[in-house]
Amino acid sequence: MERIDKSLNKLANTGDFQKRYERTKNEILNDENVRYFLNENSSAISKETVDKNLMKLYEYSTQSKNGCEKCPSLEGCINVMEGYQPHLVLQGNGIDLHYEPCPRKIVHDEKAKREKLIQSLYVPRDILSAGIEDFYLSDSSAGRMDAGEKAMAFVMDYEPGKKQKGLFLYGKFGVGKTYLLGAIANELAKKQISSLIVYVPDFLRELKGSIGDNTINEKIEMTKHAPILMLDDFGAETMTSWGRDEVIGPILQFRMLENLPTFFTSNFDMEGLKNHLTFSQRGEKEEVKAARVMERIRYLAEPIHLNGKNRRL
Ligand code: ADP
Ligand code: MG
Repeated sequence: MERIDKSLNKLANTGDFQKRYERTKNEILNDENVRYFLNENSSAISKETVDKNLMKLYEYSTQSKNGCEKCPSLEGCINVMEGYQPHLVLQGNGIDLHYEPCPRKIVHDEKAKREKLIQSLYVPRDILSAGIEDFYLSDSSAGRMDAGEKAMAFVMDYEPGKKQKGLFLYGKFGVGKTYLLGAIANELAKKQISSLIVYVPDFLRELKGSIGDNTINEKIEMTKHAPILMLDDFGAETMTSWGRDEVIGPILQFRMLENLPTFFTSNFDMEGLKNHLTFSQRGEKEEVKAARVMERIRYLAEPIHLNGKNRRL
């Protein structure tokens, strides 16, 4: 009795399997992309080839292909290999599946490559998404167009090794000075030119806390040699004569001699920055030393006033 039962069960299962198999096969062969491929290659592909490669066709039909249509995002990619989409190829008389990066992965990789070209010290990573178009589109009043145009002109004219003045962007808190630096760095990255953005207050604070530390020397060297250096929020630091004469001064001096473009942002205009750099040290006013640093800044960068509304409100 038992044996008959078993055999019957087996038969039933087999029948079920057959049905399911036929249904799945129909679904696969009705898939628009599969149909297109089989039609295109109808002379080379026999019925047996189709049967033999049904698993590959199944894999192909269930995955996201044309413009990532089945995936919500790259992270939410449903494909066997995240960020890769399959396509069918004829190989001899057989069918093969090849995988290549999907459109979203291509965009993602290009962005990552560009971001690698932008190094930053103490600057939030989100400014890496700044775009020059957004800078123009968000506010096209006259006081901003000038800055935008100068920024674009720099990007277009610059070639490695070329002597070219950077910009000294000054204006009130929150008008988008740092954002514009990020946008310039992004545009330069599209030309494979790398930039280093340094948030000056944190840079000096860290240097002060660890004089003699090797990583600090590395950071100073990195700042001296960066093909494009952007000193963000200059003047917002508590400057000391040491910071001015031993750190900022030599960095600017080196960059002047090597013709390395340097950008600045500041809440101060040139005059205000000069005052900021002139402080009493043991009752002595150090105007000459401040003037020397200002001279270097003027040599390296063209002052541009950026106005607009405070975007941080
Ligand atoms: P600043 O450096 O002049 O103090 P930020 O560049 O930090 O100002 O800008 C203030 C805020 O506004 C930031 O969060 C920045 O990302 C945003 N922001 C500035 N300019 C734009 C713009 N053109 N489009 C979109 N967001 C902007
Ligand atoms: Mg800023």
